[in-house]
Amino acid sequence: MTIALTGGTVLASLDPPSVVSADVAIEDGVVKAVGSAPDGATSIDCTGCLIVPGNVNAHMHLYSALARGMPYRLDPPEDFVQILQRVWWRLDRALDVESIRASALAGGMDAVLTGTTTLVDHQASPEAIDGSLDVIAEALADIGLRSVLCYEVTDRDGPERAAAGVEENRRFLKAGWPLARGMVGAHASLTLSDETLGACAEVTRDAGVGLHIHVAEDEADQRDAQARFGSRVVSRLARAGVLNGSALLAHCVHVDAEEIDAIRDSGATVAHNPRSNMNNSVGRAPVAALGDRVCLGTDGLGADMFAESATAYWRRREESLSAPMTWPLARLARGAAFVGRAFELPALGRIEAGAPADLVVLEYDDVTPLDDTNAAGHWLFGLAARHVRDVMVAGEMVVADRLLTRLDQDEVAATAREQAERLWRRIEELPPHPFGPGGGS
Ligand SMILES: [Zn+2]
Repeated sequence: MTIALTGGTVLASLDPPSVVSADVAIEDGVVKAVGSAPDGATSIDCTGCLIVPGNVNAHMHLYSALARGMPYRLDPPEDFVQILQRVWWRLDRALDVESIRASALAGGMDAVLTGTTTLVDHQASPEAIDGSLDVIAEALADIGLRSVLCYEVTDRDGPERAAAGVEENRRFLKAGWPLARGMVGAHASLTLSDETLGACAEVTRDAGVGLHIHVAEDEADQRDAQARFGSRVVSRLARAGVLNGSALLAHCVHVDAEEIDAIRDSGATVAHNPRSNMNNSVGRAPVAALGDRVCLGTDGLGADMFAESATAYWRRREESLSAPMTWPLARLARGAAFVGRAFELPALGRIEAGAPADLVVLEYDDVTPLDDTNAAGHWLFGLAARHVRDVMVAGEMVVADRLLTRLDQDEVAATAREQAERLWRRIEELPPHPFGPGGGS
């Protein structure tokens, strides 16, 4: 069956922005043509709409989807390590299979309704490691989302769980989900021994995939690497053999000039998470110096890439008026290219013949003209998740007229609320995590 999205304006490419008034024909999950609708196609009227490539959230934590609004009765954290010890390392220990599934469904629903078609996720659930990636893959498959998943290996919960994390990555990399791929996940240098990092590296080599790891999110990561290993974080990753073109390095806030050069030379991709960095008060990532390595993620603060990309832009503009409006769009395109490599679909992130049909129909009939030269201005100052009407992933409409097509949203939300209450009760019983990095926090 051929579907034709007719009468709309198409933002066919984000880098460089390219706008065309055309129908989009889709067949067998792929864009067949951008031009005029073929005869016999099932037509979906997109008059007055802007059709854009589906957004990619290149660093996500679905496991945190039930955290919003949770009670917190400990002393407020005073630094980044205390945020981990008192918030996230209590939340992840409280997760079980039911709450992992509810988190993935709630977070996935939120993502797709805001126009995000791919999540690059980083899972942590130390009391439910084995099979957790299948639980997430199944939840996202139920919604119809594309994903790249991994389990966050760490030594902070002891050697058995570290080994179980490595095995969960290894196991999932052999699983055959149509719309999910795997990476090897690792928490951060500050919670990894050389042995555990080496075990992760071995799985990346065996499976031919990259490591997805937090890098120098806070200065504490560098202090720990210096204290325990006598080197900076990026050198440590290079020594372990995981700094390469397949690696996905989240944050890179506290990397020095030498590390920036090493990252650029390696071809690794950096996931920049501006809203999370602001929320955790960890500092500003040197995104200008990291250049075209950079893509964008939310670090679990929802999955709205319209909001994240606009914030990324404003934060850069606060520093310098030289940041071009096209910069955040190019960063989104970079994230799509990263996922395209994982799926061996190099045209992912563009709307052109042969590209996978991951796209978003926005009810955006703006009051000013839209063309190649000003599309970035519309993206930053006009477009928002509220414009999302339909979302297609791999040729299937998974959101139509602002509703999920495969699941009942009220049911997903009701289950999530039930699971959130259970989860919050369990978190309240847990003390701050005792693990601390070397070099002090
Ligand atoms: Zn993260």
